[in-house]
Amino acid sequence: MLNRPAYANETYLDFTRPEHADAQRSALAGVRAEFGRTYGIWIGGKQEAGAHGTFASVNPSATGEVIGHFAAASADQARRALAAAWDAFREWQYVPAETRAGIIFRAADIVRRRRMEINAWMISEAGKNYLEADADTCEGIDFLEYYAHEALRYDRGMKVIDSWGDLNRTHYIPIGAGVSISPWNFPFAITLGMAAAPIVAGNTVVAKPSPDTPMMAHLIREIFDEAGLPAGVFNLVTGDNLEVGETLTTDPATRFINFTGSLGVGLHIAEVAAKAGPDTRFLKRVVAELGGKNAVVVDADADLEAAATGIVQAAFGFQGQKCSAASRVVAHAAVYDRLLELVVAKTETLAIGDAKDNFAAGPVVNQKAVDKIMHYIGIGKTEGRLVTGGSREGTPADGHYIRPTVFADVAPDARIAQEEIFGPVTAFIKAKDLDDALRIANGTRFGLTGGFFSNNPAHVDRAMREFHVGNLYINRKNTGALVGAQPFGGFNLSGTDSKAGGADYLLCFLQAKSITERPVLAEPVLPGFRFTKS
Ligand code: NAD
Repeated sequence: MLNRPAYANETYLDFTRPEHADAQRSALAGVRAEFGRTYGIWIGGKQEAGAHGTFASVNPSATGEVIGHFAAASADQARRALAAAWDAFREWQYVPAETRAGIIFRAADIVRRRRMEINAWMISEAGKNYLEADADTCEGIDFLEYYAHEALRYDRGMKVIDSWGDLNRTHYIPIGAGVSISPWNFPFAITLGMAAAPIVAGNTVVAKPSPDTPMMAHLIREIFDEAGLPAGVFNLVTGDNLEVGETLTTDPATRFINFTGSLGVGLHIAEVAAKAGPDTRFLKRVVAELGGKNAVVVDADADLEAAATGIVQAAFGFQGQKCSAASRVVAHAAVYDRLLELVVAKTETLAIGDAKDNFAAGPVVNQKAVDKIMHYIGIGKTEGRLVTGGSREGTPADGHYIRPTVFADVAPDARIAQEEIFGPVTAFIKAKDLDDALRIANGTRFGLTGGFFSNNPAHVDRAMREFHVGNLYINRKNTGALVGAQPFGGFNLSGTDSKAGGADYLLCFLQAKSITERPVLAEPVLPGFRFTKS
């Protein structure tokens, strides 16, 4: 029996304490000395160079700095990675759950040991400040711990009864070799969790991380390797979205696709994954966790200070680049002006600069993101009233910085109130009353997170019932779901609601096998006749 403490969330470090900030700075100095190395892809435990050479991952805070050069794989390499995953599956599927969980628990311990270094790579490659990076690393630890515990639970099988003399059992078995395609915005936790869950359940994986954060995926590979994961259980392929990504999602050998990313790509994957051909032997399982257009509703009698703080944290934490970010504020007319004033005042205190120096507001991820966000800011100027931000003025020239931006007087159906911008932009919308507020809040194609600030218990009850989102937060910020505490996933076009970090998640990568055994000495069994074993 594995002797592991009960699951609990890893706590974040307080970087206002000099010893933690100093430790983080010294880890940053350590990883900066490693910048610019070249990394291959990993197939069946062996490293190889990309058939199409390399691409660079750059530091969004200082775009002249190259984090590393990463292999640009070919379609053939992607297919070989999938074949290696199937080879490894032959044995891994039968490895006892305790052994699999033991490896994943060991991986959690390795992450704990390397925490500051992992944070440092993330600060450098994704532009997170110290706390955001640490929260991401802690979430990674939580995913490992939680899913390993869950694998042990699922190993006990489904509770069934014996029937008419037959002995019944139903146990969970893995489904096969699949693909985990992750985004750059939680480049450690999500990439790790999306691979660890299928793996600890007995499946094998080809991971295809975002080209913006391949370094984080390489750290994950090292961690799995040190933890003792057999070769081929986790394969890592980097490269072009179309050549590598599309090959992996369309290949008939792909048993499951675990995708987290944007709505457009998710819809496309769902479509191509459903196509059957002559080689099709199974329906691909598609888990797709997508975007959001999350609203924070502020009621007439809400604590406006608390609401404003929660809004600013959720709208501008990691520059609004969270699927859960507060990109709409739906305020009751009675408090709209005062709330706007408070939010703008708090937004304007956010200092902008290089993530390595731990600024509250760092860069957005790449030039494409800058262009997209600035395009939406342009649209916002025609759809609402720009109250603060709205430009790159006064930000460091060598990084992808955009000032935190608030628009007011935005119509519920405006583009900036309907489309995911994925940057530091939020839109204020005025509501006449609670009915109006809930109608506006529910009035998009998405349904990921929502915030509701109110001191009226009847209104809180209504929000709990009628605010149609996968993760609803009452009187607190609407970001920062904790593994095992707030299972995460959205409704409508926000995804398949797989609830990552929840007790149902491993089921996405399992199938239940029911076995009925007639005891050798049993009498002939008729319906209605109950056989007793005595
Ligand atoms: P993205 O959709 O551009 O990319 C996601 C991943 O898909 C990347 O690895 C990318 O390389 C890959 N990809 C792109 N095109 C592909 C294709 N044709 N075939 C296969 N793979 C392909 O998203 P992103 O910019 O990396 O991440 C931001 C998005 O992710 C936002 O929309 C955000 O809301 C969403 N997100 C959702 C959640 C959630 O849990 N719901 C969590 C984090 C991020």
